[in-house]
Amino acid sequence: MSDERRTRALEYSEMDLKAAIAEANRCLNCKSPPCKEGCPISNDIPEFIAALAVGDLGEARRVIARKSNLPAICGRVCAHELQCEGHCVLAKTGNPIRVGLLERTIADFAFEMALPLDKVPQKTRGRMAVIGSGPAGLTVAGDLAKQGFDVTVFEAMEEPGGVLLYGIPSFRLSKKITRREIMGIEMLGVQFQTGCMIGPDLTVDQLFERGFDAIFIGTGTAIANDLQLPGRELEGIMQSSYLLRMNYLHRSGQLDREEVPIHPGDMVLVIGGGNVGVDAARTAKGLGAASVTVVYNGAQETLPALHAEYEAAVEEGVHFRFECCATEFLGDQRLEALLVSTPQGEQKIPANKILLAVGAHPANRIVSTTEGISVDADGYVVIRERPYGMTTRKGVFAGGDVVHRPATVVLAMREAKKVAVGMAEYVDAVKLLALG
Ligand code: SF4
Repeated sequence: MSDERRTRALEYSEMDLKAAIAEANRCLNCKSPPCKEGCPISNDIPEFIAALAVGDLGEARRVIARKSNLPAICGRVCAHELQCEGHCVLAKTGNPIRVGLLERTIADFAFEMALPLDKVPQKTRGRMAVIGSGPAGLTVAGDLAKQGFDVTVFEAMEEPGGVLLYGIPSFRLSKKITRREIMGIEMLGVQFQTGCMIGPDLTVDQLFERGFDAIFIGTGTAIANDLQLPGRELEGIMQSSYLLRMNYLHRSGQLDREEVPIHPGDMVLVIGGGNVGVDAARTAKGLGAASVTVVYNGAQETLPALHAEYEAAVEEGVHFRFECCATEFLGDQRLEALLVSTPQGEQKIPANKILLAVGAHPANRIVSTTEGISVDADGYVVIRERPYGMTTRKGVFAGGDVVHRPATVVLAMREAKKVAVGMAEYVDAVKLLALG
């Protein structure tokens, strides 16, 4: 299926409202709901389903908004089969409540019908700076704005969204949906300053000088890990994240098709079986590659990518090689094959393009320009438990992948929500002490 068709399908809810209400009416409204336990941010699932079941979309949206600032995104990219739906009591019958679809249906309906938001409190509790506008930064910004803080988000790119916009391909998460969620956060009073890289353009110390009471670092893992094997210098080997970004720029009209590094007829290998690898594989297929194979060194049951994404990739013609470990890139100037070791012995797999997807680590732009922020041996920011999320520098907090290593959108959100609480406690305490 082409990227355009896949994206169009995702921009709309797969359920109409009547079907969503019928699905909501199947819910047993369990007393101790396991679906909620399965949700990393403890969404009040039975409550929003109960409101939907009686057609009260406003209340359903209000219940969701208590915990989530990104419901249209979570309703699309979360691993529901492992989380809410996997835990639903009806999963035993093979037919769990389709919580993800219900969540996105409510979020989409609320946007399309322009349902009014609850009144946001006056911004009187203090000023907060948020660095980075991926899932962690947006979550912190939204939560703090709802609690009465004046929040400014600083984003290095021209448009906010981070990995939601530049990393996850459109066929998994439409850019329209991400923009819509960001618009919702702006409506809470959050301001966005784009094209501003904290570190080189403006330092953390300068942010404090400008009157911010606390600062959140949510810059994720911006640097893709390399795979230094013999032959790494051959032409045709690149990062999966580079392909995803170039494809986004092309699809948004900022780049010619020729500059996207996968062309019709290419024989593509992807090294790594996480979501980024599978996203890159599906993208390469969508760009007309003759063959796309994901090479993963573990067994099939340990594939880190979402199961639904794996199944979609297989359906689209992507091949998977399990227990297959890359040992050398082969070729003469240009890549010709990958040498792998397998349980059956060494093999050569022909390829003219290889996409690396072997993890990522944080950039050090902020910590290298700021005194007193400690990182561990791998460059991840060290945080403390009280106030939750504060780094070794007073008033500077961090959360999401830059602390916890690459994880899913909702796991970054879960940690970010805890940090937002820590930041609010910290600023309230500092202001109280100043009064005393
Ligand atoms: Fe409804 Fe399933 Fe949650 Fe029970 S576990 S409240 S049936 S969604």
